[in-house]
Amino acid sequence: MRTVDLTKDFRGFTAVNAVNLDVADGTIHALVGPNGAGKTTLFNLLTGFLTPTSGQILLRGEDIAGQQPEKITHLGVARSFQITSLFDQMTLLEHLELALASPTGLGYRFWTSRKKLGAFRERSMELLAEVGLADRSGQRAGSLAYGQKRALEIALALALDPTLLLLDEPTAGMGLEDVDRTIGLVKKVSAGRTVVFVDHNMHVVGSLADRVTVLQSGEVLAEGTYDEVRGDDRVITAYLGE
Ligand code: ADP
Repeated sequence: MRTVDLTKDFRGFTAVNAVNLDVADGTIHALVGPNGAGKTTLFNLLTGFLTPTSGQILLRGEDIAGQQPEKITHLGVARSFQITSLFDQMTLLEHLELALASPTGLGYRFWTSRKKLGAFRERSMELLAEVGLADRSGQRAGSLAYGQKRALEIALALALDPTLLLLDEPTAGMGLEDVDRTIGLVKKVSAGRTVVFVDHNMHVVGSLADRVTVLQSGEVLAEGTYDEVRGDDRVITAYLGE
């Protein structure tokens, strides 16, 4: 996935300014930067929740900029759900089955195959196993601990069968143990997929990212490996102030 001069203006304010992001297939790429840097806006552009003012988003050579979110999901881009989208009274298995049956889920493709119900259950259990929640499939989401809810969000994103998985602060608000578990989980689910994530925890960025893009005021300040950007004077200044 590659962006070319991707730009988003909000009534004269440029939140994302001519960003050229180059994410190689099969790699894990971190987006970092101080608050207000444009990370969320960039994610919203990549998933079609916002339409760019100008620029391109190239996915396997096709420009998907400005396409509807459903179309972009079908093209293989999924973002982790937010906890607020979980239903406390629904079981984990029901969450996965619902995600698979949704018009943007895998179910859409199974629809014509007449195997859908059995296939949904089987695939739901596989996805729960992938994120380490298989033994809790019958439990209600409301009874999960925080870290488990975040793992369920990742499973729901995987239900969309993405080739490009976007994770918005996957370790936010977690204690050390959950952070390390999430690092392991993201490594595992990145197999055969491309992952772009935003995280403020530099331990997480350093453990996971093949490449890091640092954004500041909507622009790319630095790009490179974790060690390269960490030692970049402009990055140090951006984080620590002048
Ligand atoms: P980050 O996720 O890096 O903290 P954001 O992408 O949320 O940054 O925001 C980048 C800038 O764009 C901020 O200054 C924010 O106030 C502004 N911004 C974001 N969304 C809107 C919007 N819908 N309308 C106007 N300004 C916005």
